[in-house]
Amino acid sequence: VATGFLARLGGNPHNTFLDIDSEVTLAQAQASDARLAAGTGGLLEGVPVAHKDVFVTRDFATTAGSKILTGYRSPFDATLVQKLGASAQGGAGMVSLGKLNCDEFAMGSSNENSAFGKVTNPWDTARVPGGSSGGSAAAVAARLTPAATGTDTGGSIRQPASFCGITGIKPTYGRASRYGMIAYASSLDQGGPMARNAEDCALLLSAMCGPDLDRDSTSLDVAAEDFTASLNQSLEGLRIGIPKEFFGEGLAADVRAAVDSALREYEKLGAKLVPISLPRTELSIPVYYIIAPAEASSNLSRFDGVKFGHRAKDYTDLVDMYKKTRAEGFGNEVKRRIMTGAYVLSHGYYDAYYLQAQKIRRMIADDFQRAFTECDVIAGPVAPSVAWKFGENANDPVADYLADIFTLPASLAGLPGMSLPAGFGAQGMPVGLQLIGNYFKEAQLLNAAHRLQ
Ligand code: GLN
Repeated sequence: VATGFLARLGGNPHNTFLDIDSEVTLAQAQASDARLAAGTGGLLEGVPVAHKDVFVTRDFATTAGSKILTGYRSPFDATLVQKLGASAQGGAGMVSLGKLNCDEFAMGSSNENSAFGKVTNPWDTARVPGGSSGGSAAAVAARLTPAATGTDTGGSIRQPASFCGITGIKPTYGRASRYGMIAYASSLDQGGPMARNAEDCALLLSAMCGPDLDRDSTSLDVAAEDFTASLNQSLEGLRIGIPKEFFGEGLAADVRAAVDSALREYEKLGAKLVPISLPRTELSIPVYYIIAPAEASSNLSRFDGVKFGHRAKDYTDLVDMYKKTRAEGFGNEVKRRIMTGAYVLSHGYYDAYYLQAQKIRRMIADDFQRAFTECDVIAGPVAPSVAWKFGENANDPVADYLADIFTLPASLAGLPGMSLPAGFGAQGMPVGLQLIGNYFKEAQLLNAAHRLQ
């Protein structure tokens, strides 16, 4: 199987891969074959997977989409890579095809921020695949891999899944280990699977979740689950909350129509639509774009030319070396976030911005808990529009930030959220339906998604 997939990667379709190494892949595949022949294979033995380049890997280069990590090779595998990998090491047995393109340090919504060139959307190559896990989404959509890993800090699994017509789930924050996931905003970062449908996502997520208490300080002590066990349950009586703030003026008519038709399908399956309110939805944008850059400015301080990757050639002293390395190594969006983050954390502004944002973050989480007294799951659009054309927002980063409005609330609250195909918009582009569940209700989300597929 791996040989067949490797053969498709020649010429790197859609610029999805940042590193491939057929020798590594074939060696993993042979080991899998041997385990299958011996009857000792894991849950997903021999099935190919590819990893977002934010996960560190021993067998492939890791760049996080940034020039600053040029030449970096991790001495260990991220926990999620290990959990999906060789079953001889306790993993599910998947065979890695390599590393997938993404926005630099997962900062972006269109993959245009990768230092290694844009990924094109397989449905229309003039359009963005979404981001930051755009390489993952495009690779699954183009059938270059049956499944991929992604990371979601403010929507980076759900939004590219929506733009490329695939399925992706971000579990409850803390349910899947962050160890070896290059940190962007640690209180929000969460890895998860991206695949063709909910059933495949359930298989991968079953292998990915579970406590990693010694290696990830925010890992939760919640046992892994077999998420496939609860697929095919009836939706009779399921209360689906419809937040009115997700269906306001900014929502494109074609997205609304596709989402509405998916909701009607749910009614046919016996679910009840319940109007709810998430009153601070709009505030999630300023809150996220204060907290995420603040954490990023701290996390990215480690890239100083000493420990990892790129180091400037000509410098006069240590400080000059830091400055030149970071000026050369980071792209514009990353620099913008570092500066924003340093500003909101600085003396005199901390109370006005960072502290306020933290308070509103808590209120956003409380709003969800209030909503979950009235409904079991929440449904709405993933993004206000279908995938936009390259360059449309090129000189307007805020336009990208605003388009994150429907994915940010669940991220700030740490809730599980997923995107599944809901149909097509006016230009024949895929539209995703977002489902948000209460903490640890991934199984319920996956079942609801599966019933629609
Ligand atoms: N678009 C958001 C950002 O740029 C989300 C990215 C993500 O989830 N990694 O921060």
